[in-house]
Amino acid sequence: MSSHEGTPAPSGAESPHRFATRCARAGTSGARGEWNAPLQPPIFQSAIFDLGSAADAEAIFSGKRKGYAYSRFGNPTVDVLAESLAGLEGGAGAMVTSSGNAAVLCAVTSALHGRKGPLVTHHDIYGGSFELLQILSEVYRLPLEWVDPANTEQWLDAVGRAGAVLVETPSNPLMRLVDLRQTVDRARSCGAPVIVDNTVATPLNQRPFELGADWVVHSTTKYLNGHGDLIGGCVIRREPLTKLHRAIHKNLGGTVNASEAAMALRGLRTLALRMEAHNRNGEAIARWLEGRREVTRVYHPGLPSHPQAELARRQMIHGGGLLSFELAGGEAAVTRFIDRLKLSVHAVSLGGPETLVTRPARTSHRGMSPEVRRQAGVSDSLIRLAAGIEDADDLIADLAQAIAAE
Ligand SMILES: *Cc1c(COP(=O)(O)O)cnc(C)c1O
Repeated sequence: MSSHEGTPAPSGAESPHRFATRCARAGTSGARGEWNAPLQPPIFQSAIFDLGSAADAEAIFSGKRKGYAYSRFGNPTVDVLAESLAGLEGGAGAMVTSSGNAAVLCAVTSALHGRKGPLVTHHDIYGGSFELLQILSEVYRLPLEWVDPANTEQWLDAVGRAGAVLVETPSNPLMRLVDLRQTVDRARSCGAPVIVDNTVATPLNQRPFELGADWVVHSTTKYLNGHGDLIGGCVIRREPLTKLHRAIHKNLGGTVNASEAAMALRGLRTLALRMEAHNRNGEAIARWLEGRREVTRVYHPGLPSHPQAELARRQMIHGGGLLSFELAGGEAAVTRFIDRLKLSVHAVSLGGPETLVTRPARTSHRGMSPEVRRQAGVSDSLIRLAAGIEDADDLIADLAQAIAAE
């Protein structure tokens, strides 16, 4: 995690500009290349488009001419968001979805289409993705293999026989990392596409395509929109999207309206600026917590004490704004801590301006049995904190008064 002058210049895309510039200009007239255009992209809030003459309709539907028919198939405002997202992640094409879960479904379906072998993934993926895959396996017999990436031999063996691979790194809430380069190299040996859920890291902190991943998914609900006021997702491919991928996206049905796409685009334009604050606060809080005697453990990829600190340095540009920690006083101390917080908000999710605190065992991981939770390392006294963009000293002062034993 090098500290760098300016923001990274994403590779694999045409724009010569660095990350912050590209965020700030996402979807504006210059990026769209239209003459005398409104600086902000127009919101085409229409389900239906006039097809014109019989010949025009033929040209649109045959794909001879770029045109729109129906907003589930495509919409100009949504396309602007898709192009912006693809550009920021360094991919060739993107599909916008109505949620992060819809993005996972679309990516898994696209990656597995025409492939033999199971979807290989790990247990500590996002709870919603976990439940979705279980349903797909029960109803549609989706071949699924859960493997612990910490057991490198077992993980690489499964990846080498996979139909496709779904990886989430860093994982949530324990901030475990999966070695993307190693996973991609093994997946290549059997032609399995690798999907990376890059929601927690964001394209600013981790560049999966530069490490060889084939697909990236995001819950744009989190950092990319960044204001906690919409649910959304996207699927990005390193190589150009094919007709088949677009057909899968259109027919799964998890598309968005133009107004929501415009909102997500507005959020996206401040991503680089916001991530600086999330990163700074995440690191400051993690370091402060580590020095407190009331705290027994802190999990953050940017800490030298992280068990995979070396991999984090190689794979991530910054450790990010998400962390978790254990209080020495167990569950009673956790309850008291939550109830005493005045500034941080007791709420699920992450990536918005406000610092959010949850107890995974009582919220996101409630569906797991205590036994499975224990195996996963999610104890009853674990607290997850998603650093917002407030002043770090204010946040730390609030945590200090809440954490103090009396
Ligand atoms: C929130 C989240 C999702 C699901 O996104 P929704 O927008 O809630 O559907 C998927 N992956 C990760 C890592 C997430 O944090």
